[in-house]
Amino acid sequence: MPVRIAIGLAVTVICFAVAGRRFHWISRLVRAGQPAPGRLRADRADVARRAEAEITEVAGQRKLLEWTVPGVAHFFTMWGFTILLFTIIEAYGDLFDPTFHIPGIGTSAALGFLEDFFATAVLVALVVFTVIRIKSSPSRKQRASRFYGSHTRAAWMTLLFIFGVIATLLLYRGAQVDTSPRQFPYGDWAFASHVIGAGLAGLGHGVNGALATTFLLLNVSVISAFLVFVSYSKHLHIFVAPFNVAFSRRPRALGGLDKTPDMDMENVTEDTVFGAGFIENFTWKQMLDFVTCTECGRCQSVCPAWTTGKPLSPKLVIMGLRDNMFSQAAHLMAPKEAGSGGEGAPALPVDAGDRSGVASSGPEPLVPGVIEPDVLWSCTTCGSCVEQCPVDIEHIDAIVDMRRYQVLMESSFPHEAELMLRNIENQGDPWGLGVSKRTEWTQVLDFEVPVVSDVIPDDVEYLYWVGCAGALDERARRQVQATARLLHEAGVRFAILGPKESCTGDPARRIGNEYLFQEQAKANIATLESASVRKIVATCPHCFNTLKNEYPALGGNFEVVHHAELLDHLVREGKIVPGTGYSGTVTYHDPCYLGRHNRVFDEPRTVIDAIPGAHNVEMRRCRERGFCCGAGGARMWMEESIGTRVNVDRTLEALGTGADVVSTACPYCMIMLDDAVRANGKEDDVRVLDIAQLVEESMRVPEPAGLPGPGPGTEAGNAPQPEG
Ligand code: SF4
Ligand code: SF4
Repeated sequence: MPVRIAIGLAVTVICFAVAGRRFHWISRLVRAGQPAPGRLRADRADVARRAEAEITEVAGQRKLLEWTVPGVAHFFTMWGFTILLFTIIEAYGDLFDPTFHIPGIGTSAALGFLEDFFATAVLVALVVFTVIRIKSSPSRKQRASRFYGSHTRAAWMTLLFIFGVIATLLLYRGAQVDTSPRQFPYGDWAFASHVIGAGLAGLGHGVNGALATTFLLLNVSVISAFLVFVSYSKHLHIFVAPFNVAFSRRPRALGGLDKTPDMDMENVTEDTVFGAGFIENFTWKQMLDFVTCTECGRCQSVCPAWTTGKPLSPKLVIMGLRDNMFSQAAHLMAPKEAGSGGEGAPALPVDAGDRSGVASSGPEPLVPGVIEPDVLWSCTTCGSCVEQCPVDIEHIDAIVDMRRYQVLMESSFPHEAELMLRNIENQGDPWGLGVSKRTEWTQVLDFEVPVVSDVIPDDVEYLYWVGCAGALDERARRQVQATARLLHEAGVRFAILGPKESCTGDPARRIGNEYLFQEQAKANIATLESASVRKIVATCPHCFNTLKNEYPALGGNFEVVHHAELLDHLVREGKIVPGTGYSGTVTYHDPCYLGRHNRVFDEPRTVIDAIPGAHNVEMRRCRERGFCCGAGGARMWMEESIGTRVNVDRTLEALGTGADVVSTACPYCMIMLDDAVRANGKEDDVRVLDIAQLVEESMRVPEPAGLPGPGPGTEAGNAPQPEG
C-alpha cells in the first residue's frame, strides 16, 4: 500500500472513530431526556411544515440573513462546505488514484468553477468573521458584545480550522494545475486554483507533484481533525441544527406554550414532578436545544433583560443547562429503575402529555446554582430570543419549565407576585378588585353594552373579552371604551361577560403556576361554551394569545381576533372612516404578544396610516425586533430593582423619534409606557394612546381655536370625550 494511502486512511480512521464515539455519546445523552409529545409526529401536515423549515431555515438561512453582513458570510460558509463535499470525495479518490474524478460530473468546467467559487467565498467570509469578532470582542465591548460569555477561543479555533481546510485545498489544486491536465481538467474556470498554480509554476513539475501529494494529505488530515473538533465544540451545530430545526415547534415556538402537564390532582403521586428542577426533567427536544446552541449571542443581544443590565442572558441560560447536562451525563444515562424515567424507560407513554413520575433525585438542583433566581425571574417571555435564534432553540419553554418547578414544587418565587396569584384565585383578577367592578367601564358610554347572562343573543357577532386591565385599570379602560365606541359606530354587535369574565390565567401560567392557569382556563371555557360563544374580540394581546393559542389544548376552540385586526378590517370596509381630528407624528410600539408571538404587525400600522393627519415614524427596534415594555411573563407584578427599567429603555427610544404620540394596542404596554413617559417628565409633550383612541380622536371635530380645553397627557386630556 503506498505511503499516501496509509497516512490518509490512518488519520481518517482514527479521527472518524473518535468523532463517531462522541456523536454516539451525545445521541445517547439527548435520548435520555423525557418524552417530547408531538415532536416526532409524522402526519402529512407535520412533515410538510418540517420540510419547509429545512428549506427556509437551514438551506435558506432565513434568520441568519436578517443580519445582513454576518448572515451573508454564514450563508456562503454553509453552502461552501456543502459544495466542497465534492472536493472531499475527490481528495479521497485521489489517495487511491491520482486521475480519479466523480463519475458523470467530475471533469466538467462547471464543477471546477463552483468548487473554486465557494472556496474563495469561504475565505472572504473568514475575513468578515474575523473583523466581526475583533470589533465585537467581549474584551472591548463587555456586556454589549453578543459574544460576552461565549467560548471565544473555540470560535477562533474554528476559523483557523476552516482556513486550514480551504488553504490546503487551494494549494493542493494549485499544485495539480502544474502537474497534469488529466488530474485537473477544469481549465481556466477553476480560477482560484489557476491563480495559485501560476504562483507555484516556477517550482517545476516534480516539486509540484510532491506538493500536490503533501497538500492532499494535509487537506484530508485537517478535515478529519476538524470533524473531531466539531464533535467536541459548539460547532456541533453543523450536524445537529438540521435535526433541531426539524423537531422544533411549528410554525414557531412562540404564541402559546407547548406543554400542558396534566394537572389533574387525581393523577398526582408523591413521585410526580411538575416542570424542571433537575436536568433530567427536561425533554429530549430541550436537551437537543442545549447541544445545538452555537453561542452566537444573537438572543443575548436582543434580550430586554440582558440589555437593561439584568443577569438574564438567554444564551447563558442555554449554555449553563448544556454544561450541567454534560456534567450529569453519567447520571442521565445510567439505567433507571422502572417507572423512574430516563433512557429507555419513559415513565409515561410518549403522548401522555406530562412528565409525572420522573425521578427528582438528580444530584444538582437547577435553581439556584446552575440558574440563579434573579436570572429565572427576569424573563418577560417577550420571545425576542426565540425569534432571533438561527437554530430554533426554544428558550421560553425551558425558562417556564424551571419556573413551574419553583412555583409548584418548591413554592419559591418573588414574594411580591404572591398577592397577584392569590387575587386571581380568589377574585378572578390580578389586582383583587373583584367581579362587581367589571362593568364600571361601560358607565361612560352613551349606549348600552349587552352583558351575557345566559346565552349570547343571535344578533350579537362578537363576545368582547375586555380583560382584567381593560375592565379595572383607569388608563386601560380608556382604550376599551374607545374600542367599544368604534365598534358601536361601525355597527358591530358585541356583548360582554361582565361579572362572569375572569382572568384568562396568562400571568399565572407565565410565572409558572400551571395549576392556577388550568383552573382559570377550564372555568372560562365552561362559561364561554355555556354562553354559546363562537367569536371573540380581545383588546389585551395576552388574553388574545391565551384564548386563541392555549385554550384549544384544554378544549376551548373559539375564533379569536384582536381589536387591531378587527379595526383594520372595519377601516378597509369603510365602516370606520378616520377623520382629520388628529394631526401629528405617531410611533407605534409592537406589543410582544400581538406582534412577535402572533404576527399581527401590519394591521395596527394600516389603521394608523388610515388617519389622514398621522405620520407614523418607526423606532429602530420594531416589528419582529420590537422591544418589550417589560410587563410580560408576569413581570408586571414583580419588582424591577436591577439595571435600567425595561419600560424606561423602551420609552427613551420612542421619545427619540420625536413623535407626539406613542401608540400601542395592549393595556400592559399602555401602562408601562405611560409610567415611563411620566417618569421622564414628558407627559405634557407626549401622549401614550391605543390605536383605537387615536382613530377615535381623529374622528372628532376639532374644537375651534382659542377655546380652553384639557391639555394633552393630563388625566382629562387622555380621558374619552363625549361623542359629537
Ligand atoms: S423571552 Fe425575552 S426576556 Fe426572556 S430570555 Fe428571551 S429575550 Fe430575554
Ligand atoms: S440560543 Fe440560539 S441565538 Fe442564542 S446563542 Fe445559542 S444559537 Fe445563538
